[in-house]
Amino acid sequence: MPSAEVEVIASVPKQLYIGGEWRQASNDGLLAVKDPATEEVLCEVADGTPDDARAALDAACEVQADWQATPPGERSRILQLAFEAVRARADDLALLMTLEVGKPIAESRAEVAYAAEFFRWFAGEALRLDGNYKVSADGGSRVIVLQQAVGPSLLITPWNFPLAMGTRKIGPALAAGCTMVVKPAQQTPLSMLALAKVLEESGLPGGVVNVLVTSQAGAATEPLLSDTRLRKLSFTGSTEVGRTLLRVAADTVLNCSMELGGNAPFIVFEDADVELAVEGAALAKMRNTGEACTAANRFIVAEAVADDFTHRLASRLEAMTVGRGTEEGVEVGPLIDGRQLESVDELVRDAVAAGADPLIGAERIDRPGHFYRPTVLDQVPPGSQLLQEEIFGPVAPITRFSAEDEAVAQANDTEYGLVAYVFTQGLSRALRVSEVLETGMVGLNRGLVSNAGAPFGGVKQSGLGREGGNEGIEAFLEPKYLSVAL
Ligand code: NAP
Repeated sequence: MPSAEVEVIASVPKQLYIGGEWRQASNDGLLAVKDPATEEVLCEVADGTPDDARAALDAACEVQADWQATPPGERSRILQLAFEAVRARADDLALLMTLEVGKPIAESRAEVAYAAEFFRWFAGEALRLDGNYKVSADGGSRVIVLQQAVGPSLLITPWNFPLAMGTRKIGPALAAGCTMVVKPAQQTPLSMLALAKVLEESGLPGGVVNVLVTSQAGAATEPLLSDTRLRKLSFTGSTEVGRTLLRVAADTVLNCSMELGGNAPFIVFEDADVELAVEGAALAKMRNTGEACTAANRFIVAEAVADDFTHRLASRLEAMTVGRGTEEGVEVGPLIDGRQLESVDELVRDAVAAGADPLIGAERIDRPGHFYRPTVLDQVPPGSQLLQEEIFGPVAPITRFSAEDEAVAQANDTEYGLVAYVFTQGLSRALRVSEVLETGMVGLNRGLVSNAGAPFGGVKQSGLGREGGNEGIEAFLEPKYLSVAL
């Protein structure tokens, strides 16, 4: 392993971060972190137990009142310092991310910048926790509304964006005055451990953020979810796990925010700028090698431009450089693990067996690591499994339509509702279609919607609530109304 990689891994604490201390797991257990491009073990980190989880919640509860009482200006100052510290360490954080996730280094740099923006945004929001003062309708009383921190929170994050999915929750939680236990994905704990160190060095008091890495997600979080001191669950991950957690959370009527899976339609109308649509498609499909909740999952293309768009997209994706993400110029990295590779391969084989036409790819790459060739499948039959499920890989299935309402019906024919992409040069059509798409977000002539200043989230089974933007802090606040007699 090159010395820069050895050094960056050595710089990360390998313990749990609880109550401001770095400590081993209570049973001294360890968890191996692997490089998905080589399948080699990068290092081992402490593997937290249910007892460690309880200790992390104890630590968060112990300082909740103090953190909530810390002046908003001070909470804002710490977030601003953390923003600057993440930016100052961007190169190291990006390399670390590429090592554990496999994503191309240029994308890791972009994620670090995006992740930092949530700290800057919520440093501002900490200063704007506005209340309300009203005269009642009969004039006889006054209505005062305060915004208060919801309380100790459990934040669970996925492996695909290991830093940004963390800061998108930690930023607003800190700004609102909440303490927390953060549980990163077991495959990518290093980015979160490095972030905890940044927060510690930015002056965040011990116990406010606790990081619990564990290989037993269900068993370790269960004692927290059944503990009535926990007041909030904010989860980003699959719809399947989200449903399970909502069922568990029902027992304590826990306040929940859910950022779940997607099945994004990418609609290209006959009046689209096809070149722009191809560029948007390459971004929406290939970001993070297709392993994104926002990944374009179904390309729904007008008959009139379908051949042109499909062939240009196939040439564009075929020309992309595949390799270990640490190498400059690599545009497509490995998938996260063998199970994901198998799942992508199976979805493609199923579609091809049903009659889809593979224009490029449709096969694994014979090298160490979990690599799959960029793939374009034309004429994918309706009902194919890969049109219903998140593919989470570099595979673009194309279907065609002849009328606008047919495109919208295809786009909405899914239980998911996170994001849709629409390419058209007609303003009326752009707005008309955006209004009837059943999604929380629409990319109009753009293949990227992520923005710290915008409310990110889905409808239907893609989630509950929003992260980022003016709305993002609401997840960590409770309004309290005072009815005042004059
Ligand atoms: P996942 O399997 O649902 O896991 C997400 C997180 O939940 C991980 O930290 C995981 O821990 C933990 N977890 C799993 N089972 C649990 C349980 N029973 N109790 C408590 N925690 C549990 O999802 P993933 O494979 O990591 O991530 C990919 C999914 O996330 C995709 O569906 C993607 O669309 C979605 N996602 C959504 C958004 C969004 O903003 N809407 C953003 C990014 C990703 P382990 O690592 O130990 O399994």
